[in-house]
Amino acid sequence: MRVAVIGAGVVGALIARELCRYEGEVLLFEREADVGWGVTKANSGIVHGGFHDPPSTIRARFCVRGNAMYEGLCRELNVPFLRTGAYVLALSKEELPLLEELRAQGEENGVPGLEIHSQEEVLSREPNVNPKVLSGLWSPTVGITEPWAVALAAVENALANGLELHLSEEITGIRVEKRQVQEVKTPEGRYPVDAVVNAAGLFADHVAAMAGLSEPVLFPRRGEYVLLDKAAEGLVRSVIFPAPSGKSKGILVLPTIDGGILLGPTAEDLPPEAKEATETTPEGLSQVMEGARRLVPKLPLGQAIKTFAGLRPESPQKDFILGESPVKGFYQAAAMRSPGLTAAPAIARWLACEVMTSELSLKRKGSFSPIRKGIPRVAELPEAEWEELIRKDPRYGRIVCFCNKVTEGEIVEAIRRGARTLDGVKFRTRAGFGRCQGAFCTDRILAILARELGRAPEEISQKGAGSPLVGGRVRP
Ligand SMILES: Cc1cc2nc3c(=O)[nH]c(=O)nc-3n(C[C@H](O)[C@H](O)[C@H](O)COP(=O)(O)OP(=O)(O)OC[C@H]3O[C@@H](n4cnc5c(N)ncnc54)[C@H](O)[C@@H]3O)c2cc1C
Repeated sequence: MRVAVIGAGVVGALIARELCRYEGEVLLFEREADVGWGVTKANSGIVHGGFHDPPSTIRARFCVRGNAMYEGLCRELNVPFLRTGAYVLALSKEELPLLEELRAQGEENGVPGLEIHSQEEVLSREPNVNPKVLSGLWSPTVGITEPWAVALAAVENALANGLELHLSEEITGIRVEKRQVQEVKTPEGRYPVDAVVNAAGLFADHVAAMAGLSEPVLFPRRGEYVLLDKAAEGLVRSVIFPAPSGKSKGILVLPTIDGGILLGPTAEDLPPEAKEATETTPEGLSQVMEGARRLVPKLPLGQAIKTFAGLRPESPQKDFILGESPVKGFYQAAAMRSPGLTAAPAIARWLACEVMTSELSLKRKGSFSPIRKGIPRVAELPEAEWEELIRKDPRYGRIVCFCNKVTEGEIVEAIRRGARTLDGVKFRTRAGFGRCQGAFCTDRILAILARELGRAPEEISQKGAGSPLVGGRVRP
């Protein structure tokens, strides 16, 4: 059995990992130079509770199941995950019934522990939210994670279990005969396969069309963000939602896993062809600041260190498209709008272990190990453990990124595990992710990459082809 998974975002990465539990070959194709650089790279990073999604939706089913799996998954993969809980705030009388509706919806979906808290209780837990808050819906199971870290760790673990990874290799065609998948094509070659999983994010419509399918129909919905520095840590301890607008969950204020504060996102529908439109706009950013200020009036906006935007793969039916398709051997994990990050582990388990195993008669292999050891994070280690690490490898004693306290040892280890670009190092180690956004460490990371990979600095890029960091030497 040979299966091609298309797309190494969080969804494709987790599906590929699940498929590696079975005998046969699993090939993961990604057109970018690294894992997790699509929708997975720019989102809120929330492991949602599941109370926002209407009970009849596929989203609701997989969100609640996925949420319950996150703790175990992140333990196995050694990825950070924190159950912060979340509040939905009612700031006016008109919003009060919305909290009751969300609670009833959540309970129908099987979300545990939902409670409506009084103004006093909300303010005692979250003293910086708007003092005009009337009450809040508390959801204790909501959590936060680093989405790209989940994808990277899942691929690393899958590689240790036999995955064949094809980076910078775009699927450009799929041969179907007698309504059965035969092979996938890339500029590098042709690969005969028994099955294909379409996990191509915003481009899942293009991939489906290669197999002759008209679903999903996708358009991007842009979400803009402002990130505040770690100096704002503690401003809120849980995820703070407004009462929902109908179109989206609204503009939020939430802690990030590494101590920052994230504000956003907006929800702006773009034409189907605008799938690369990740630029921010003055209007979008003012909307973010206004919406966030409504929830937390004393926002230290002077501590903003970055703005960015992500694109949700939206579909007219506003739901995931999952499982078998009219083409035999072609499986969909598409239209993965929010809460796709949350749902991903449950979708991966269901698709690989329930749907595909029975249809393709996959057999479990005895040797699968679910455990992946992470790169040591000096910033989080007790001093004695850091010293021990330095004794074994002095490079762990040389700090390269001072904002996030990332050492040369961590960067070298990231390169050993597959980082080939500046962003590859950044997403694996958080070097360049801090207050200065790489202003002080980019040249040093570039030099380490060049040295470890045996290349000239001019050959090292930010994120693969077409993104050089230096143009050439000033002096020969
Ligand atoms: C603004 C915003 C906020 C969000 N917030 C949350 C949240 O808080 N919680 C939550 O649960 N969800 C959230 N989501 C949704 C979540 O981010 C997505 O559901 C999830 O990341 C989708 O992952 P994916 O693997 O399907 O797609 P992607 O990460 O886009 O992965 C698909 C991959 O396929 C590759 N690809 C495309 N075409 C080809 C091809 N032809 N050949 C090879 N490779 C190809 C792409 O390069 C890409 O890397 C949010 C999304 C956005 C945009």
